[in-house]
Amino acid sequence: MIQLHPLPYDFKALEPYISEKTIQLHYGKHQAGYVKTTDDLINKTPMENLDLNNLILTASCDTVLTKLFNSAAQVWNHQFYWNSLSPEAQKHHPSAQLKTSIDKDFGSMDNCLKKLIETGMNQFGSGWVWLARENNNLTIFSTSNAQTPITQYGLKPLLCIDVWEHAYYLDYQNDRKEYLTRVVTNLINWDFASQNDN
Ligand code: MN
Repeated sequence: MIQLHPLPYDFKALEPYISEKTIQLHYGKHQAGYVKTTDDLINKTPMENLDLNNLILTASCDTVLTKLFNSAAQVWNHQFYWNSLSPEAQKHHPSAQLKTSIDKDFGSMDNCLKKLIETGMNQFGSGWVWLARENNNLTIFSTSNAQTPITQYGLKPLLCIDVWEHAYYLDYQNDRKEYLTRVVTNLINWDFASQNDN
């Protein structure tokens, strides 16, 4: 049984960058819908006792399980997204190790933030932007629809940003760049990213 994890903060906590209304729909309808679809698909099957990560890995190996993969991966991606954001982002900073890697691989924190925004802008259609560690290097890339880096050996996601229209349309309409800019500048939880980088 897959659970809808509690949101790590209040529905209003990310205002003024992400509204309560957006979170009500995004978490309460979209994410909750992915949880329900996943549960319905695994109920009374041999997969019903798999944890979410193993469910995603299993479903990613078989095209017959595409619907299950999409809903389960969307549950995981959304959990990771909410944890990637914080209403107290200004109190969070990259660890010394992560800061050193950001400077080495992107030149500066500013350049890293610019690359997150640019990568989100270049994702055609729905998807996700990721900062991940691959061996000794950091990498920024996007994935389409429900695709998730946890299925790729050697790639360790540190944070993600949802660029599906449902993530920003109520607050920013079609202005994905403004959404990305405000989220990247004001909401990234660098403590969470640093914890994932060990
Ligand atoms: Mn979403």
